[in-house]
Amino acid sequence: MPANHTRRAFLQTISLGLGTTLAFPSIIHAKPSFQKKKLGIALVGLGSYAKNQLAVALAQTDNCYLAGIVTGTPAKAEEWKRKYNIPEKNIYNYQSFDQIADNKDIDIVYIVLPNSMHHEFVLRAAKAGKHVMCEKPMSVSVKEAEEMVAACKKAGVQLGIGYRLHFEPFTQEVMRLGQKKILGDVRFVQTNFGFSIGDPTQWRLKKELAGGGPLMDVGIYCVQASRYATGKEPLWVTAQLGPITDKQRFTTVEESISWQMEFPDGIMVNGFSSYKSNIEQLYVSATNGWFQLGPAYGYGPLKGRTSQGELNLPVVHHQTVMLNGICKEFLENNKFPAHTSGEEGLRDMKILMGIYEAARTGKKISLAS
Ligand code: NAD
Repeated sequence: MPANHTRRAFLQTISLGLGTTLAFPSIIHAKPSFQKKKLGIALVGLGSYAKNQLAVALAQTDNCYLAGIVTGTPAKAEEWKRKYNIPEKNIYNYQSFDQIADNKDIDIVYIVLPNSMHHEFVLRAAKAGKHVMCEKPMSVSVKEAEEMVAACKKAGVQLGIGYRLHFEPFTQEVMRLGQKKILGDVRFVQTNFGFSIGDPTQWRLKKELAGGGPLMDVGIYCVQASRYATGKEPLWVTAQLGPITDKQRFTTVEESISWQMEFPDGIMVNGFSSYKSNIEQLYVSATNGWFQLGPAYGYGPLKGRTSQGELNLPVVHHQTVMLNGICKEFLENNKFPAHTSGEEGLRDMKILMGIYEAARTGKKISLAS
């Protein structure tokens, strides 16, 4: 495990997979020490995403499997234990979680809890010496995100954010078309993601658990899309909160939000996110044509067209290709892919918080740092 690795730190230039390359000090292991073929993953929080997507994926992946669970509900522990044949010793609750440090079956802990709990559990996982995957948004503040990145670095463990679309073919084609300027220079991006939210009592509508409304939950996909379609980082943002039309649901989080960002080379981005409108689109206008996805961000099947015709690409189970991709990279290099790292999550957190600040103050907020 990480503490036993022989390490050699030196300055390395890596591709972020977003069209940018950065030079930064990195830890390189002289020889991958993982000889295991399948990595053991423990899911923390057995809600809808863990149950209906990640557990399904882990039954299909060839280089990782569901080795353990962490839940606060004894009935769920029983159900999952039977269904997935999980040994009793690999089942934890939120209090006993830290004992996972002694469990050799668990290589990676995957945090799938409400947003405000990510910070605590990533820090505890790092302290336990486990590599960590964390769901989006990685935290509810920039400070927390920075602490998560720092804690994992200090513990010598990997931190990845569950950005499933980076492993999805239609999204990868958008990255290629935009970043390689296949249809010319990108000039404008329109990106919208919203849905009509149900249960008024759910944690997504409580700021103390969600950190914010649709922007935190699904607007983050729009922010990601503007970054991966251009391969660039935004310079500034202006934003506006939409009206509250549903006073029962929207007492602490926004109902909808719109924002405008400028990227280098004069690229403009319009974004919109909502818990009241069903919308899921990405449209990119370039100097010699256009490309678009719709649906663009959900579990799919995604669909896309360019000014040259329909995109015919494989339809995949997003979470399966993501986990296979992350574990493949880890087994080969002892690292999670850089394009879905904690640092990537931190960049998004800075932008999300910039959008909120712009909406709150009515000012143009600089994002260039
Ligand atoms: P969910 O409400 O279905 O599950 C949340 C889980 O956390 C439940 O098991 C619940 O029991 C547990 N929990 C522990 N303490 C809690 C508390 N104080 N309040 C509420 N629940 C508590 O939510 P979900 O849809 O599974 O979302 C979990 C995380 O996964 C979120 O961060 C969300 O943004 C992320 N997510 C990501 C995707 C994706 O496509 N990447 C999709 C859905 C959700």
